Amino acid sequence: MARLTFLGAARTVTGSQYLLEAGGRRILVDSGMFQGEKELRQRNWAEPAFDPARVDAMVLTHTHLDHIGRVPRLVKQGFRGPAYCTPPTKDLAEILLLDAAHLQAEDAGYLNRKGLTKHAPALPLFDEADVREAMALLRPVPLGRPQPVNHAFSFTYRDAGHLLGAASADLTLREDGREARVLFSGDVGRFDAVLTKDPVLAPEADYLIVESTYGNRTHPQVPILDQLEGVLKKTFARGGVLLIPAFAVGRAQQMVYLMDELVTEGRIRAFPIHIDSPMAIDATRIYASYPEASRVSLNNIGGRSLLHGKWVHLHRTRAESEALNAMRGPAVIVSSSGMLSGGRILHHCRQRLPHPENTLLITGYQAAGTLGRALLDGVHVVRIHKGDVPVLAEVRDLKGLSGHADAGEMMRWLSAVRKTPRLVFVTHGEAEAAEALASRIARERGFATRVPALGDAFDLALGERDGPGPEVL
Ligand SMILES: [Zn+2]
Repeated sequence: MARLTFLGAARTVTGSQYLLEAGGRRILVDSGMFQGEKELRQRNWAEPAFDPARVDAMVLTHTHLDHIGRVPRLVKQGFRGPAYCTPPTKDLAEILLLDAAHLQAEDAGYLNRKGLTKHAPALPLFDEADVREAMALLRPVPLGRPQPVNHAFSFTYRDAGHLLGAASADLTLREDGREARVLFSGDVGRFDAVLTKDPVLAPEADYLIVESTYGNRTHPQVPILDQLEGVLKKTFARGGVLLIPAFAVGRAQQMVYLMDELVTEGRIRAFPIHIDSPMAIDATRIYASYPEASRVSLNNIGGRSLLHGKWVHLHRTRAESEALNAMRGPAVIVSSSGMLSGGRILHHCRQRLPHPENTLLITGYQAAGTLGRALLDGVHVVRIHKGDVPVLAEVRDLKGLSGHADAGEMMRWLSAVRKTPRLVFVTHGEAEAAEALASRIARERGFATRVPALGDAFDLALGERDGPGPEVL
């Protein structure tokens, strides 16, 4: 009997991990970290519900930590691979996992120095050596090429349009001469998005596992270039500097591309763009090395390479970063982290927020409790590096850059599925969002849906679709 067990991203958006069993073999689809509230994060430390040494392979959908962040730990616990992913996912995973290892080492060090931990000493989930071991197990598989895993499993990646390298995993399970097709959406991106291509519509499948981050929401239709042009012109008219906190992979590249568009279209005169983030520089290089993967090649924007554009300056060292303090506008600084939870952007905020000619432009979701959220809520003083910083700069919010499809776009993604699947599982969303999308799929398409809870397991039927539905174990 084939079986699917939900080990993460069930009634929540993080920790994606699904165990598939068929023909005496086991594979995991994604192994992501739980992120957010402490209660969720503690789950990263739980012993796995399976023996990692007896998992034959992993199929990873993309490089975000909530999809790959538990891989190094599983390797430490005995997983020996292979772990399949697309070629860009492998490249990006190296910089993201190493960064995560460094951040965890810093956090653990801080807790130990301050005596703030009940565990003595506090330990990181994984370290750089664990990341190196995990990287050695990653096996790149291009989009669209069928990949056999063993006698029980094979799969094909399809572009999910979410981030460079992000894919849906279209799996075939085999047992006793019978088959079932199981499609994992991964994170599905938006249609007509900045830089990323449209997601490839879901193919026919017996079972679908569908994300629902925005399962109860509709993204507003807002012209992004108009918003950005307005913010840039207003800031530059004051002689100010525009600060853009941006996640180093994906958002930073989108922002540089959008600014380049405005200049190329002649809507604004060229201005210096400073990318102050070693990780964003590395990620941009990776984006540039896969010119066919994006809607527009970053190699050849406006007839020249974006990375070596006259107006784009890259800052890798701390000294280069500090030299920006003396700079006057008009200019743009793109730095991370995206939610202002750490990183070089904090130094720039300390420098620039007290001056009314500058603007801080938020470009993505800001979780409750973050500095980015406080600034959007209009606080007048923020605390950065143990000092009070008055906020006299303008704070703006650029809308419309979400990397996830909204409810309507998920329905569009499902629109090519003609034959009624046996069951659609809705995951990777808060309970409300997941329930809303599940009801909508049932109502509009007539498909049977389930919103699984963490740990739920389902027997999957193989062969022609005439047998009974799945049994909840
Ligand atoms: Zn993602």
